[in-house]
Amino acid sequence: MQSFKVNNIVVPEELPLIALKNTVLFPKIVMPVIIQRQKSVAALDVALLRDNLVFFTAQRNIEDDVTPRDLMGVGTIGRVMSVFKLPDGSSKIDVEGVARARIVRYSSETPHFSVAIEPLVMVSSGADDLHESVLVRRIIDQFRRIFEMRSFPGIPPEAIYMMAQIKDAEQVISLVTSNLNIDAQEQQRILEMTDAREALQQLNLYLTRELDILDAEKSIAKETKKKIGKMQKEIFLREQLKSIEKELGVEDEQVEFDVIRKKVLSAKMPKEIEEKAIKELNRLAKMPAFSPEVSYIRNYLDWLTELPWEAKVKDAIDLKKAEKILNQDHYGLDKAKERIVEYLAVKKQVKKLKGPILCFVGPPGVGKTSIGQSIAKALGRKFVRVSLGGLRDEAEIRGHRRTYVGAMPGRIVQGIHTVKSKNPVFMLDEIDKVGADFRGDPSAALLEALDPEQNHAFSDHYLEVPYDLSDVLFIATANSLETIPPALRDRLEVISFAGYTEQEKLKISQKFLMPKLISDHGLSGASVKISDKVIGDIIHFHTMEAGVRELERQLGTIIRKITRNLVEAKSKRSITVTADSLHKYLGPIKYTHQSSEKKDEIGVATGMAWSPYGGSIITIESAKMPGRGRLILTGQQGSVMQESAQAALTYARGRVAKNGSKEDFNKTDVHVHVPVAGRKDGPSAGTAITTSLVSLFTGVPIRKDVAMTGEVTLRGKVLEIGGIKEKVLAAHRAGIKTVIMPAENKKDLEEIPKEVRKALKVVFAKTMDDVLKVALK
Ligand code: ADP
Repeated sequence: MQSFKVNNIVVPEELPLIALKNTVLFPKIVMPVIIQRQKSVAALDVALLRDNLVFFTAQRNIEDDVTPRDLMGVGTIGRVMSVFKLPDGSSKIDVEGVARARIVRYSSETPHFSVAIEPLVMVSSGADDLHESVLVRRIIDQFRRIFEMRSFPGIPPEAIYMMAQIKDAEQVISLVTSNLNIDAQEQQRILEMTDAREALQQLNLYLTRELDILDAEKSIAKETKKKIGKMQKEIFLREQLKSIEKELGVEDEQVEFDVIRKKVLSAKMPKEIEEKAIKELNRLAKMPAFSPEVSYIRNYLDWLTELPWEAKVKDAIDLKKAEKILNQDHYGLDKAKERIVEYLAVKKQVKKLKGPILCFVGPPGVGKTSIGQSIAKALGRKFVRVSLGGLRDEAEIRGHRRTYVGAMPGRIVQGIHTVKSKNPVFMLDEIDKVGADFRGDPSAALLEALDPEQNHAFSDHYLEVPYDLSDVLFIATANSLETIPPALRDRLEVISFAGYTEQEKLKISQKFLMPKLISDHGLSGASVKISDKVIGDIIHFHTMEAGVRELERQLGTIIRKITRNLVEAKSKRSITVTADSLHKYLGPIKYTHQSSEKKDEIGVATGMAWSPYGGSIITIESAKMPGRGRLILTGQQGSVMQESAQAALTYARGRVAKNGSKEDFNKTDVHVHVPVAGRKDGPSAGTAITTSLVSLFTGVPIRKDVAMTGEVTLRGKVLEIGGIKEKVLAAHRAGIKTVIMPAENKKDLEEIPKEVRKALKVVFAKTMDDVLKVALK
């Protein structure tokens, strides 16, 4: 038999063949192979009997039965190094690749394949070739990197480092290709290459591809790990948070959410508003329990859910009943009551009254608030009162935006929130004391609230959602009309409350104040006896006011002291307050009304003044001294009053000069003083100042029991003025007997209660002559 020598081994030309499934044997490599198939066992047996040499070639498929056509033409001569027989007749062998060879022909196919082969020598330029050696190095390097990323069962780590020593290209190719994770076809392709450089290049490609795959795998793994890590971290943190919250007692948060959610759903809000609330609630749910925003949102939701969105009182307007209730609670005030009943009648007729807002104007303590309460009572509605006094910030009406710390809705929404009803009687107190400054104009917001065209969607900055105010019955109160912003005033229907006479106050005391006070103090009506005369004294000597507030306070003081006495004495007897014992209860007399008692004096005139707090009488004094003809005005007189003093002086001078006075006005200073605390202004003191000056220049005293009011022109004409009712009542209170007023004010007399008219002499003046005739002695 012919033979050849390759890698120092003599190889016969003909060898038994074993087909390899799914694998390729490379030269210079030891590989384990399982021999199972009959033909393979037979081939192995023959080889073992001869020189242990077998030709291994890969089959194209994975069939058990193969023909030469199924087998690759190029394979590797292998030398069997050890055999391990297995009980089922198969064997496991270790085989070393000797050299690559090509099948020349099949010499037999049974009992095993025998082939004639010729060696295939790999052409290599060896280590001298730079290109080749670089490729080898690179392959080793790449392989090592792959090895580091993925361990190979068959190769110990040291082996890889040893590889660096290998210079033989074929050995490197064999080692790397047989260990590389590539399929048998690709291995076969490299096996068939006889040019080392070509094989190295191909192998390099495979390695690069494999490395790319590994890199991708690695980064995917890393990403996954990161994700899992993050998830685990989150789970861990959440658990931790839960236990912290538990420690802090926030665990019933969910319970609270549910409560709020229920509140939202049962608040009967309009759809869009409910949606908004739910949105806020969801925001809340996502927030960590200790975020500062949590309390803001909660607070906000509290407001939203607690507002009456639907709740309103059914009001059946019964005019008879309303009238009865108004009368029951209040004495007098006939005109106001009449107007209110008319207003209610109109309201009954047109379901939603788009008319003006009632505004009660008058001094304090005349019953404006309490009549408002009666209206609510008559309509069966809730009553709420909000004081606007001193308000300068629009946000007070409309609320602060939620971004402010401690933000709250404005007073209107607050009021509605308090009464929990959509249609209360809403009293806006002291609407004349609303001011505007850099913080916006509260009256603009008020206008929106009061305007029936707009107030069905009143916008409060805090609520952020519109609130329907159209069912609210607004009533305003004011002390004076002058200071109400004009735009607001246009919307108001004014009902004036002027103040009470002593007679009326007496009636109010008997019928309303006393019974109320007695029952408020838990006493019975029989335990306190106080005669009309005594109440009259209280009114006259212990109060000086248009309304009955001070009176109520004084009566309260008496009742309180009586209560104490009764409690301390544990007695049920009745106590009588007499004129003499009054001192014991209220101390010395506060108002003496001396004006009518003191003697008549030169230059001292009594005028009548009006202020938002009611009428009052003022004393005007003048004096003269040597000087340069100056007019000195003191006592906080306003500019209009100063001008009327100038005019008075001019008139008085002219008048006395005409009557032949020798007075040299250029050498006389005149001083006019108004000794009442506080600022005063207006033209209506004209007659009093003029009278004072004429008296001064003529030396005729002025009657102390005469009070006067009226504007005076330079020529001495007396002009109409306002506030007659309050002024006359004040004069009456002060014990004045005669009142001089402009003739043009005659019409106002009608407003003055009969008993006052009866008690007073009223003189109507057209000119200063008319005034002086009565005022001067
Ligand atoms: P205002 O709001 O005008 O300042 P209030 O309504 O507070 O005055 O009145 C003060 C007190 O006087 C209240 O207790 C009120 O009931 C009582 N009052 C005022 N006017 C009358 C009246 N005509 N009849 C009965 N009580 C009155």
